[in-house]
Parts: sequence; C-alpha cells; structure tokens
Amino acid sequence: MIFAHAWCSRSTRAKPFAANRARPRALPRSCSPCSHHAVDTLRRMGTNTEIAAAFEELAVLSELLGANVFKVNAFRRAARAVESLTGEACSMESAALKAIDGIGASTAAKIFEFAKTGAMSELDELRAQIPAGLKEVLGIQGIGPKTARALWIDAGVVDLSSLSAAIESGAVAKLPRMGAKTIENMKEAIAFAQTAVGRMRIGDAMPVANALVARLGALSCVQRIAYAGSLRRGKETIGDLDILACSEESGPLMEAFCTMPEVARVLVQGLTKSSVQTKHGLQIDLRVVPLEKFGAAWQYFTGGKEHNVRLRERAIAQGFRLNEYGLFAADASGKVADGALPVASREESDIYHALGLEWMPPTMREDRGELDAFVLGAAHTPIVEQHDIRAELHCHTTASDGALSIDELVSEAQRRGFHTIAITDHSKSQFQANGLDETRLLTHIAAIHAARARFPRMQIWAGSEVDVLSDGSLDYSDDLLRQLDWVVASPHAALKQEPRVATDRLLKAIRHPLVHVLGHPTGRIVNGRPGLEPVMSELYAAARECHTALEINSHHMRLDLRDTHVRGAVAAGCMVAINCDVHGLSDYDELGYGILTAQRGWLPKASCINTFDAAALDAWRRVKR
Ligand SMILES: [Zn+2]
Ligand SMILES: [Zn+2]
Repeated sequence: MIFAHAWCSRSTRAKPFAANRARPRALPRSCSPCSHHAVDTLRRMGTNTEIAAAFEELAVLSELLGANVFKVNAFRRAARAVESLTGEACSMESAALKAIDGIGASTAAKIFEFAKTGAMSELDELRAQIPAGLKEVLGIQGIGPKTARALWIDAGVVDLSSLSAAIESGAVAKLPRMGAKTIENMKEAIAFAQTAVGRMRIGDAMPVANALVARLGALSCVQRIAYAGSLRRGKETIGDLDILACSEESGPLMEAFCTMPEVARVLVQGLTKSSVQTKHGLQIDLRVVPLEKFGAAWQYFTGGKEHNVRLRERAIAQGFRLNEYGLFAADASGKVADGALPVASREESDIYHALGLEWMPPTMREDRGELDAFVLGAAHTPIVEQHDIRAELHCHTTASDGALSIDELVSEAQRRGFHTIAITDHSKSQFQANGLDETRLLTHIAAIHAARARFPRMQIWAGSEVDVLSDGSLDYSDDLLRQLDWVVASPHAALKQEPRVATDRLLKAIRHPLVHVLGHPTGRIVNGRPGLEPVMSELYAAARECHTALEINSHHMRLDLRDTHVRGAVAAGCMVAINCDVHGLSDYDELGYGILTAQRGWLPKASCINTFDAAALDAWRRVKR
C-alpha cells in the first residue's frame, strides 16, 4: 500500500521555489488582456463533475417546484450518465452524446449550452423562483425536495429560522405525514446543522483526518489513500474534509467509512462516493478513484480553486485539456478524442511536469504567483520545512502558566534534535498567568542558567515573554531586560485598539533595542477574536530596520502571523521566528501548523531564525546585547 498524505509523508516534502519570483505580483491579473481571453476559453469548458452537479440541482429544484416525476427523473439520469463518462461531455459531438444511455436531445442541448456559456438558463430560471434560504432547509437530514415543498407551500417555511418557528407554532404538525417522531428528528437535525455552520480550525480537523486515513489505509482492499482539499493546503480553517482512495473493491471500504464510530450521520453511501457528518460537525467526503488516475484526482480535489483555473488555462494554451481524470491532448479545435488516454494522470508530478512546471507544495497552490515561480529549471531557493527547525524560542515553565519544569522542557527540545531553547515565562502584568515579578524573575534566570550544566549539548537561554502594554512600553525595566539572554515581546491585553494606536504600540516594541522577537503580533484567536489590526507594512519595515524578528506563533488557535502576513514580511525582507509557545509537552507538535502557515507565506529557510545553526543563532541574538 502506498501511504501518502500531506502531514507526515515525506512524499509531499516541500520542493524548492524560485525566490527571485517570490514577490506578490505588481499588477492584478485582470490587467493582462490575454489572461482574460484564457479565462473566457476556460469558462466555456465545464468538467463532468460540474455538469452533473447542475443536472442534480435541476432535478432537486424542479421537484421543489412541483414538476412531473418524468422530468425530475430525466435530470437525475442525465446527472448519473455524465458523472460516469470517461471523456469530457463538453468536448463530445452531439451524436455521440445522444447515443449515451440517459442523455436525450434536450439534456444534450443543456450540455452544449453549459459548454458554451458555463451556465444552464433553465437552472438560473428555477433558482430565481425559489427563496434562497430553502437551500439550508434542504440541507437538513431527512428533508428531501417533496417535504421541503410542503413546508414551503403549506407552512410558509423559507429558511431555517422560519422552519424552527413553524415547528414551535404547530404549523408543521398539521402537514400530512408529520408525526411527533419525525418532528423530533427534524428539531435535532436543525440543532446539529446550526453547530456545523462555519469552518473548523485546522488543529481540530487534522487529527481526525490523520486517524481516518491511517485506519482506512490499513484495510487490505485499500491501495492508496490521502486527504486533499484545504486541509492539505494547510489553511487555518477547514470547510469539508476530502479524502481520496484507490481500491479494487470499494464496497467494504465505504462500509467501513460509513460505520466509523465518529460518524453521526451518513449523507450518501455509494461505491464511488460517500459523505458523512461527524459528531463534531465535520463533513467528510470519500471518493474512490482508479489508481492510474489518482494524481489527477488528488491535484483536482486539492485545489485551490484559483490555482486550478490557472493550471487549466495553461493546459489549454499548450494544447491540452486538464480535468480530474488527467491531462489529455486536444486537437486543433480544442477537442479530446473519444476514449483518448491521458498524457499524465497517475502522479501529480506527472501532470505538472507535462505542463513545464515543477511539482509544487499544496500549501502554495493559491494563485499567488506559484505558476511563475515553479517553471521547470528555474533558479530555486529552499522554502522552510519542519526538519529545518532546530530551536524553540518561546516557552513557559511552571514558574508562570506552563505545565513543565525547566528540565522537562529542555529534555524534550533535545530529544527533538533542537540545539537551542529560550525559556520565556510571562511578565508581571500577566497575573492571571502567574507572571513573574522582578524578584522571581531574577531567581528564575539563575535557575535557567544552572540547567546548562545538566544539558551540556544544549544552548539554553533565560528569556521572558514580556507584555507589550497598551501604550507600547514593556512590562519590565530596561535594566532587568538587559539581564535576560532573550526577549519576546507580546501583546496580551487591550486587543481592540484602533488600528493607528495598535500600529504605534507595536512599532514601539519592535524598535525597542532589547527586544528580539515580536510574539503573536496581532493577538488574534482563530474563530475566536480578530485581535489587533495594525498597518502591517509599517511593522515589516521597522522589523527589518531594527533587526527584530516577527513570530509565527504555531499554536493552531493563534497562527499569528497568519499566512498573508508572512508573505508580506518575506517580501519586505524581515526575519521570521516559528515558535510553539510551549505550555505542555504536546505543544511541541503544534510546530506542524506553524510550518504550514510559513509555507503558505513562502517563507524561505534562510529567513527563519529557528533554522540557523547554534552559533549563527547566538550571533544573531548578540546584535541586541
Ligand atoms: Zn503570549
Ligand atoms: Zn507565550
């Protein structure tokens, strides 16, 4: 079995990238007339998946509007027929299309319309006749188009809140076939749907994905399995989880998937695709694809959407067509011959290489200039990877709010192959975190220095995570800060300041001659609070000028700097620190999220101080001592 997923597999190890092209584009892409043209060409193409989804929606909406059953079924049959085609429906001749079981003259006309305009006018008309909120109602487990129609026409339901109101008022109970049990199930499903709204933090989704891939990957019928989507791209939050698998016998695999203990609801169970909702509100889609097309599917379902649009444009410009089944050669008129075999499909790298590109890390597939940077043979600078990290420069002991002693922290750092650790407990204003006053700090410094004798191979620094107070001053005097080997300055309170005030506050900390790192610069919590919104470009410029690093706090709740900030800091020539803000042993594992964020920001290894060797890091530190 090939076991491949982005988190722990070396197969997806980040490849080098071209630093000389690393800066964000100066011009928005719409400025280029030829790229406009390419988009138009592309939009005329529809993948089979998109066309099938359009037919499925036609079926649902026409049923909702009370169309006759023959018409509804015809749309459903067309959806299934298009989904199971091996060639692209959009590039097939009319006669060949109509010869397919399930596609008649009128559905073939809709496919042509979609190929030409990227839309189906009948679908647009139906959408306009239906309240937008009914889509949410249809998303409730147990409510199909027929029930939704009754709720809408007879009980005035137009969205989830009017559905809840209609249940409470007894209007729903008056409808036919609405027993107490059915209504109870509906109420439960609404409550569930409301908890599932929004996106899950990556640190909550990743362990679920890893466990699932490992468990299903251990089945004898599974040849290959991996997750795709925004999780593989390392985004800070995840909508749905997409899993791809190869299996000669998908029945047992789908059965195992749908009966996993974490599954709360099975939405669809089929042989090529199943969807479930977990008890934590995560939707997981599992697709089975042929082994020889795995790379094409993995590339397609990893996205991002805009990256894939660019890649398909590039394929068209080079005389190919790209879809989730592979890269296909097209004739002069842009058509792919029926039954044509793909030029590339088995591995992602086959597809990128065939298009004159290096394989590129999923974290960089966001249409932020990567297609220019990863041209085959271009000059490359290595991007930071997890195994490059050799120092943890922000961690807490039991002296403030950590769970570990100095020795426990240092032992773990040493076990992980690090050469340096900076112990940075909280300063006195963080009384709720048991922050250290001057006297306790002096004792703590002595205790940290004493540990050096017990760990002769480690470089151990006595530091502090000193509070950046609301006016930008620091929580300790300069005399005291000077006695520390290492200073991380972080904002913890007054996180709703006006942008200008926040900017000046943070600039003051960055410019302080004794500060090495600005810790979690905005104080945001993912899905929690927005934090400060300083003018980032001013922070980058000051950080570069004053030899202060900006931190990527790796904890999945923080990821602060965020990916776009990292990109800006890199472009401005700043140094960046990637720290775990360790409070307990498992926090060292948060590093993976920091690395994904760093890669999404195109952070070169050379711009990350945690990758320096011990002597170079110490020299970097001493510039401020
Ligand atoms: Zn902090
Ligand atoms: Zn901290």
